[in-house]
Amino acid sequence: MGDQLLWEDTIVALATPPGISAIGVIRISGKKAIDIMNQLYHAKDLHTQATHTLHVGFLRDNNIKLDEVVISLFKNPGSYTGEDIIEISCHGSSFIQQQVIKAILERGARMAKPGEFTQRAFLNGKLDLTQAEAVGDLIASNTAASRNAAINNIRGGFSDILKELREQLIQFSSLIELELDFSEEDVEFADRSKFIAMIKSAQKVVNQLSASFELGNVIKNGVNVAIIGKPNAGKSTLLNTLLNDDRAIVSDIAGTTRDTIEEILNINGILFRLIDTAGIREHSNDSIENMGVLKSYEKIKQADIIVYVFDVLTNTSDELEKILSELKKENAKIILVGNKSDAGDVKTWHSLFQLFSPVYISAKNNTGIEELKTTLFDLAVSHKSLSENVIITNARHYEYLHHLDGSLSEILSGLEKNISGDLLSTDINRCLLYLGELTGQITNEDRLDYIFSKFCIGK
Ligand code: GDP
Repeated sequence: MGDQLLWEDTIVALATPPGISAIGVIRISGKKAIDIMNQLYHAKDLHTQATHTLHVGFLRDNNIKLDEVVISLFKNPGSYTGEDIIEISCHGSSFIQQQVIKAILERGARMAKPGEFTQRAFLNGKLDLTQAEAVGDLIASNTAASRNAAINNIRGGFSDILKELREQLIQFSSLIELELDFSEEDVEFADRSKFIAMIKSAQKVVNQLSASFELGNVIKNGVNVAIIGKPNAGKSTLLNTLLNDDRAIVSDIAGTTRDTIEEILNINGILFRLIDTAGIREHSNDSIENMGVLKSYEKIKQADIIVYVFDVLTNTSDELEKILSELKKENAKIILVGNKSDAGDVKTWHSLFQLFSPVYISAKNNTGIEELKTTLFDLAVSHKSLSENVIITNARHYEYLHHLDGSLSEILSGLEKNISGDLLSTDINRCLLYLGELTGQITNEDRLDYIFSKFCIGK
């Protein structure tokens, strides 16, 4: 697939973050990678060295010693990109890194675009598109759950399923084509009832994958949680108790900035974004005394889960009833939290709590907090298992699964109506087209450029 063109063009990039570090890694991939390195590294001829070997020594630009480095050599075709790759581990000074890259550029390489190494791996057939996208997801992963979902998909979990579906469709479509060749003899090579069964089971798989996107989205993007309640219910005490245990490091999480007022909890690998926590801390905007005001609360509108905290000592069932009927109008899932259970009897208003059984806690004494976290987690993942093998986290994949489902339905209804072989063949080809676009077998260059442009430089 287009190898010849790629070999002509050798790319280089810093694979580690810019700035001072112990070690910086510079990657080169392409036809001239080894030639270029041989001009900078004189201890041995890298062409004659075995693939997957390490070489230590100085890099020299003419007579200037640039650095003492370790060179990792990966020869084509057994490398990440399928091309010759050299990775230079140099000392992590920005100056040294720039000098080394400059020397490489002067010898005929060009700077790599974001994601271009992975794009080459894809174009050389090392990965299909869904796997390449999972590489990006792995780099962006910030919890065990998002890492696991990405690793599964790089290893081919999703693409294996798609491959199997494709093979089945191609097999059937070739039998149909054969029938068309023998159309005058009115023969039927392709067993329609077997095909109907196959399409139905394929549709089941596609629907399961689509359904996993809800969880995938939670894994990838986290869940917005609004903690609300009357003043003095104990919201800020609860916030502190939750954060003491499980605060996630905000600066490590993509998309969060210092000025967004949110704290992030990591509960079993799922990120819970506690929105507008400043409102809680400042005791402003949190009064729910005027029920009508509830609607205008931005944070309630943004929330996937609303945690309503009430004080078991002072709240009346009337008040709770009112607030619940307001909250039920929202899209979010609701958790009722009865706080200060240490200080008095817990009232149980059974009729009221048929739908919302409260979690009783003492924010101050740290009791009931584990149960609250479990409730948050269960609501977020909707009782689905995080260990499911293939979880769709990518919106593009979800969109194409939807198209696939539609085209499988068309095939099915055609089969049930016993439509002619050539019409059936058209429907199958449409389905194969969607599959091809999903795995990247049918490529659209603009879309590829867009997908890979979201990667880091050097990957
Ligand atoms: P907020 O206005 O909802 O943020 O409420 P705060 O967290 O500021 O708490 C209001 C008061 O209730 C403070 O005096 C807290 O110490 C107290 N408080 C909070 N949680 C508990 C609890 O679990 N038990 C008891 N006994 N007091 C609590």
